[in-house]
Amino acid sequence: MNGDPYTHLIPYHEDPLVRLAQLLLEREKDRLPDLSNAVILFPGSGTSQRFRRILLDQARAVAIDAVIPPVSSSLQSWMVRQYPSEIRVLGQTERELLLLSALSDFPDLTERYGTWPLIDSLFDLFDELSLNRFTMPEDRERFHNTIEQAYGNEKLAPLNIEARLVHTLWSAWQQRLHEAGARDQVGAYLNALARSVMNIEPARHFYLSGFLRFNRAEIEWITRLRQTQQIDLLIHGSTGTIGNHPDSPVTETLTALGIESTPLSSGKDYSRLLDNVFEIGDQPLLERARQQATDAPESPATEKLRVCTAVNPEQEARAIDVQVRRWLLDGLTDIGIVTNDRRLARRVRALLERADINLLDSAGWTLSTTSAASAAIHWLDCIENRFRFNKLLDCLKSPFLAGFVNTYGGLERVQQLEEALVYRYGINNDLQRYLDTVAAKSVELNERYGENSTDQFHQLLEAVAKATQSLANLYSTGSASSEKFFDAFFEMLTGLGLDRSLADDSAGAEVVAEILELRRCTTRSRLTSDWRSFRAWTVRNLERRMFKPPLAGSGVELMGFAESRLYRFQALIIAGASREHLPGSSHESPFFNEGVRHQLLLPSRYEAQRVRLADFRRLLEAAPAVVLTLSSSKDDKPVIPSPWLQRLQALHSLAYGSALDAPELLGLASAPETLIQRDDMALPAAENAPAVRINPALLPTRLSATGYQKLVDCPFSFFANYCLNLVPLEEIADELEKSDYGSLIHRILQTFHARENSELPEENLAQAEAVLREISDSIFNPHIRRQPSARGWLYLWQRTIPAYLEWQREWSKEWRVMETERSCQTELMQSPTLKLVGRLDRVDRNNDAYAVIDYKTGKAPTGPAVKSGESVQLPFYARLMGKNVAQTCALEIGDGVVAVRAPIDNKELDELVAEHDHRLAEIFSALAEGAIPPAWGDALTCGQCHHGGICRRDLWEQDYDGNRI
Ligand code: SF4
Repeated sequence: MNGDPYTHLIPYHEDPLVRLAQLLLEREKDRLPDLSNAVILFPGSGTSQRFRRILLDQARAVAIDAVIPPVSSSLQSWMVRQYPSEIRVLGQTERELLLLSALSDFPDLTERYGTWPLIDSLFDLFDELSLNRFTMPEDRERFHNTIEQAYGNEKLAPLNIEARLVHTLWSAWQQRLHEAGARDQVGAYLNALARSVMNIEPARHFYLSGFLRFNRAEIEWITRLRQTQQIDLLIHGSTGTIGNHPDSPVTETLTALGIESTPLSSGKDYSRLLDNVFEIGDQPLLERARQQATDAPESPATEKLRVCTAVNPEQEARAIDVQVRRWLLDGLTDIGIVTNDRRLARRVRALLERADINLLDSAGWTLSTTSAASAAIHWLDCIENRFRFNKLLDCLKSPFLAGFVNTYGGLERVQQLEEALVYRYGINNDLQRYLDTVAAKSVELNERYGENSTDQFHQLLEAVAKATQSLANLYSTGSASSEKFFDAFFEMLTGLGLDRSLADDSAGAEVVAEILELRRCTTRSRLTSDWRSFRAWTVRNLERRMFKPPLAGSGVELMGFAESRLYRFQALIIAGASREHLPGSSHESPFFNEGVRHQLLLPSRYEAQRVRLADFRRLLEAAPAVVLTLSSSKDDKPVIPSPWLQRLQALHSLAYGSALDAPELLGLASAPETLIQRDDMALPAAENAPAVRINPALLPTRLSATGYQKLVDCPFSFFANYCLNLVPLEEIADELEKSDYGSLIHRILQTFHARENSELPEENLAQAEAVLREISDSIFNPHIRRQPSARGWLYLWQRTIPAYLEWQREWSKEWRVMETERSCQTELMQSPTLKLVGRLDRVDRNNDAYAVIDYKTGKAPTGPAVKSGESVQLPFYARLMGKNVAQTCALEIGDGVVAVRAPIDNKELDELVAEHDHRLAEIFSALAEGAIPPAWGDALTCGQCHHGGICRRDLWEQDYDGNRI
């Protein structure tokens, strides 16, 4: 830089690593090829390898074929190597535990602020104070005075509390560190910075590249090295402006180092356009746009920059996927995807992997989101939910548990256990209940699932109970030492074989290491914990740790903004350009406002956002082709675009009449042809509606009204259901459902009519209503205790009781209740091997005549549907009753309304029953002779059918009648 040969500003459009390599070769030319005296330090650890490649290229360009490489690493790692062996450095987990124990003396604070939020914000503050060389006065009053002066208001009581809190906790924390004879990582880092400047050999020379900001301790370190001319600073970006401007971090850093800063002269047209976009001087945007159009009549961004605004994150991910594949097809080999939106990054990664593009993901994702972490944490859910069937089955079906489950018959046994316990016997939680049921039903289970099945079910459940017992006990007990919680957690992992299966997986190994570290740190600690804290601490440690999958790909790299420094690409996508990520949130510390932070020498709350803006500006010139992507909505809510993107589009629109949109990319992203399907097989050819010939031996010998209805609705579905016994498993619902409500109403009315005279004169109505309400309460109450939401169904019924009694009063003028829930069985005269079976909700009597009533809490059949033979239930029930049925009807019990539907009586009913007899006999004899039952494919019926996968309804070209679908 002007007048300072040790500071180098590198324009955005240049490759900083190339400049660094050139500078190194020039500075060390007298020692070449030996560069081992040079120490190259970067902000992150992923740059060294790339730099070595570039260095070799640059060396070859000046006819040097090989070099003894310089030391290169991240600044942090290099400092860690300077730690003296005698100091004990606390890991992050130990540090948290120590502060946690210090906070145990302040229970009111943890209660008020929440333990972990308080710990997080305290560590942020303590680290910032230490790194920025703030010296905490021993005297609390002095600290209080400093804060008061910073706020400029001596009377503000909350300041007193804030200052007292920070001072007290800082002192407690320092005391604990002293007692432990240890330093935390920041303390050790500061120590290393101080020691290193004293021990640096005169021949050593440092090169720092890729940094935008330094803390005060690092500034002091650099300043000392600058005094001896042993350091070169290479800074990517420009200087001159502060505030909400991309140059701000560099300007402030150079000012802090006492280096006079002179702005770089603008580069080419495209660079000038971008400078114009982010200008924050007095000139309004419109004027700047006009000036831009005058200076460069053709947009310099047209070939370089495009903006793709998708409708949702899925389309955004697809657009990125398509664009990357297009660039690869064009022969590009160095493509970058930079985003701070990790959810989007994972989706993009999955899409590209479908296309066999393995990308290098240098940012990774939080360990807690890996399936390995879920395999461990789901067991905690399981214990909390008393081994509720869905939680337990999730755990048992995890691939990480395969070894354990295989000892007891494998996944097949787990599925059988699910089918038997949950769907057959309705047991949906509690390990002991599962075990008791297996014992009680052992004969039946062995018959159904084979000889050893009961033993294996029992052993499996026993093994789960044994492995989880200690942890489940701690869950019930409430509190214990933290050590006990982690011992029990690890005991569970070992008992389930998860310690070994996780260790075989790259993410799983990190999960196990993290849990072991938590266990190690809590050993000998006297800290007590409860289940909530134990769980929260475990999850937070898994969330904090980033899992970086092994870097297997090449050609396409995925990274965050911070990791992208020092990178150049052939083409680049900046993804997730919404306000949520660009600029993202400011520093959220609850301690001290901006003025006080300044007084305490802490960086601005907005520093992270300014650094991100500098990164954004740099990235716009990090490749010859840049595509910015965002989505206009997420989770059905509108997304606000990044203000930086809006500024860019606004200036470009005003200057050149276009917002740099990429409609063709959006079109490609929406086209189904561009979506890679992993299925390499050709799609099956379209088919017509199927029909099957039934083996007569498979025909059922008993037929219910439901079976008959199915036969009428779709013979193929009847075949699947009643001949092949392909019955779907019932869903176990957590809430009372409409079908359960129907059953309860049936029971209530059965009980009511068993107790009460069905004659209901006006004067008895009030008493009948009281009885009916009492019965209703007693039948609903057990359900309400288990599922409070069942109360809603009770209210619905209570609203309907008066209407029901009113109907009963009218009806009872002619009919008396004779029997409810009557089981019937009869034969068809023309087909004596077929038994018709069913249960009638209610049979009423008037002298020798009967009325068959079917209660309907759902949809009741219509008269025309019954008379046309489409709806078969009512005549079927009349047939089951057999004699003197004068009337049949459905009684619809709705919300406050009770009404008779589809009544059929006397002669019409007799004729209808005879027609059904005839029809049934004909159908069954035809089926027995090999007639082929077709699949009708009626849309309404198919919508409620579970056999669409068997009749392959979605693949038909024509329905049974030959109509094209
Ligand atoms: S999906 Fe439709 S056509 Fe297929 S079996 Fe079911 S009801 Fe019949």
